[in-house]
Amino acid sequence: MDEKTMFALMVDLHRGGLRQGPGSDEDTLRALDLTEFDKTAEPRVIDIGCGTGASTLVLAKALPKATFVAVDLFPEFLDVLTERASSAGCAERIETRVASMESLDLAPESFDLVWSEGAIYNMGFRAGLRSWRRLLRPGGVIAVTEITWLRDDPPEEIADYWEDEYPEIATADEKRAILQEVGYQVLGDFVLPETSWTKNYYDPTAARIPGFLERHAGRRDAQQIVEMDRMEAELYRRHKNAFGYVFYVARKR
Ligand code: SAH
Repeated sequence: MDEKTMFALMVDLHRGGLRQGPGSDEDTLRALDLTEFDKTAEPRVIDIGCGTGASTLVLAKALPKATFVAVDLFPEFLDVLTERASSAGCAERIETRVASMESLDLAPESFDLVWSEGAIYNMGFRAGLRSWRRLLRPGGVIAVTEITWLRDDPPEEIADYWEDEYPEIATADEKRAILQEVGYQVLGDFVLPETSWTKNYYDPTAARIPGFLERHAGRRDAQQIVEMDRMEAELYRRHKNAFGYVFYVARKR
């Protein structure tokens, strides 16, 4: 399957979801607490790889004076975000941008807060932290979730899987060291709970699969997307003690 077809199918499967990756409103708010932001301030926030706006909308509600740039590669996701923001009455504070996270054409030091849930792996943790640091004003804060080993001796099956999918996976100690190295001071971090993966992400995705297969009846590539998704969910269930998402919150030094 070519990349364009794969992306189109993945967007079709995921645009009906409230989120496109593991997470929860509670996780977003817990990370926001770690930023030590004054809720009455008027920060400029960028949400990178925002999808249909799961975290953008929670942040917009929690920071009623904040203004946002919400960035994603796929306009279909941003259209849903805008609809949801309109219903929530905060669309005028959110500017959407179709762009790659790897080449953000935005003024340096123009944000107080860089947010990114379930997305930094697309360019890599170290590369993302480096590149996005430029966007933060001095003392600004970054909050990202990143795939992390939760134990030092992961079973071979899952070690092999991540070696292929995302060799940058590492322990939280190693991730904290990278944050330091790249020029941040870690304010805090926590592991996302299991329900943020299952109840909030894999279960709702699974519920959309019958409709997705109906829309693409008889197509082998659509079937392949579904199988990839099911395998990923199954691997998570088997190895959830070995890896997870950790939310890292850190201040630009
Ligand atoms: N933050 C959202 C979406 C996470 S899924 C949530 O938590 O629900 C990852 C998101 O990154 C998807 O919306 C995907 O379209 C986007 N993405 C993938 N590669 C990207 C890139 N190179 N630049 C910008 N966004 C990208």
